[in-house]
Amino acid sequence: MDQKKRRVRFAPSPTGPLHMGGVRTALYNYLFAKQAGGDFILRIEDTDSNRFVPGAEKYIIDSLRWCGIYPDEGVDAEGNLVSVPSERHPHAPYRQSERKPIYRKYAQQLIDAGWAYYAFDSAEELDAKRKEAEANKQTFSYNHASRNSLKNSLTLPEDEVKKLLETTDNWTIRFKNPENRTIEMDDMIRGHISMNTNTLDDKVLWKAADQLPTYHLANIVDDHLMEITHVIRGEEWLPSLPLHYLLYEAFGWTDSQPHFAHLSLLLKPDGKGKLSKRDGDRLGFPVFPLRWVNAQGEVSRGYREDGYYPQAFINMLALLGWNPGTEQEIFTLEELTQLFSMEKVVKSGARFNPEKAKWFNQEYLRMRSNEQLACEFEELLRSFTCDRERNLTHAELTELSGLIKERAHFITDFLTICPYIFAAPTQYDEKDTRKFWTDDAKAIMPQVIARIESIDCKYTVDCPEHVPAAEAVPHIEESLTSLITENGWKMGAVMNALRLFFVGQAKGLGIADIIYYLGKKEALRRIRKAVETL
Ligand code: GLU
Repeated sequence: MDQKKRRVRFAPSPTGPLHMGGVRTALYNYLFAKQAGGDFILRIEDTDSNRFVPGAEKYIIDSLRWCGIYPDEGVDAEGNLVSVPSERHPHAPYRQSERKPIYRKYAQQLIDAGWAYYAFDSAEELDAKRKEAEANKQTFSYNHASRNSLKNSLTLPEDEVKKLLETTDNWTIRFKNPENRTIEMDDMIRGHISMNTNTLDDKVLWKAADQLPTYHLANIVDDHLMEITHVIRGEEWLPSLPLHYLLYEAFGWTDSQPHFAHLSLLLKPDGKGKLSKRDGDRLGFPVFPLRWVNAQGEVSRGYREDGYYPQAFINMLALLGWNPGTEQEIFTLEELTQLFSMEKVVKSGARFNPEKAKWFNQEYLRMRSNEQLACEFEELLRSFTCDRERNLTHAELTELSGLIKERAHFITDFLTICPYIFAAPTQYDEKDTRKFWTDDAKAIMPQVIARIESIDCKYTVDCPEHVPAAEAVPHIEESLTSLITENGWKMGAVMNALRLFFVGQAKGLGIADIIYYLGKKEALRRIRKAVETL
């Protein structure tokens, strides 16, 4: 039995904003570590300086924090990547570019043991080889077959190798794949996999030009030094698994080699191919946790800015590729931590459903107390120009939140559901005006106005000591319906005319609700204004 403390890492490269698939990888790592009381480590793999994007590292950290995924090691309380070792962060630095001096000796160890060799072929020479192969309808790879006819320490005399190493800096260290060996591998999700080494190319492990390792070397060395027990990452890394197995063998670290799990892709809503930013742009949903503006000023929308609650986002992501085997769909992070299991992670790609994402947010919105929603509503109203004499109080907004929350997916929907509660309509729908502002309606309106005037102030928000909506709204409703039935008028005719005046069209909340939240004065003002205008 594996008694070691479970230690996992999320090791993104700062090459742009973190895709939601990346957040899911981080989440699964986090859940897997936390359920066993283990550690979740964040490591930034920035050895490829050509692909480095400023701001991407901060974006990754901010995204994880927004999701409530806090690394045990790698990031300090202020949200900065840790560079200096401490008790809490013993493996610092956690940014690979700051670990540069560590890797050279490991590359040397492989050379000395015959697991790697120096390669001196220039980019132009390799390019020429590629073209030559293409002309013969073949693909060139630097591998067990071709390496013996290329410019490297396996083919050149020793003194020439020495001279080239001393006088040039354009060389690399390549892994020397063993010939015709079958590598037997295990994946926690995919089971047993085997691969013949003759299909592999001799990957570059280290580059003299920038004195930096490539992903493969740095990744294996750091996973070893950071005592990682399980590597959970995207399936795009599955083809690298044989090399990684071989590297563990070459270093003599097979006893402490981590277990591997390769997660399937997030798929487009139609299931055809990998979910990309372009799908989001085309179909109107974010693929990034937070908004991102690139160097060209192009903006990518984020779940946070689109009004998603991080809990809903995380819940939705957790179920894209994993399910607990029950009907339950709503889980807190704590519940997910308890229930998550690698056995229930699916092998096939997980199709993203933007409507379902909204549904999750709606569920989380409904679970919030009216009080909480009122606070969020207040925040939203701060940027909205209210043209009534006074805005609703916190208690009134709490009641209103309770009324409208069932109709909303996002807190921002609150304003689109009933903007007219806060600002009077500036125009009236022409079709509805023709339909509902009829001669009959005109004839009865003075009586309707009189009835609203007769409503006691305590039944609308005008009176500071008003009764709660639950009592007031039925009272208003009753005053209006009794007037309508006593006179034998049509209910719809009166209500729709009033709605037109209050809202600007014959749509909206119940008339009694609207009158209650507008207050008697504002309701009458809107009726009189409409009667004058129309
Ligand atoms: N830096 C790699 C990436 O960008 C990490 C792969 C791994 O987790 O081993 O995804």
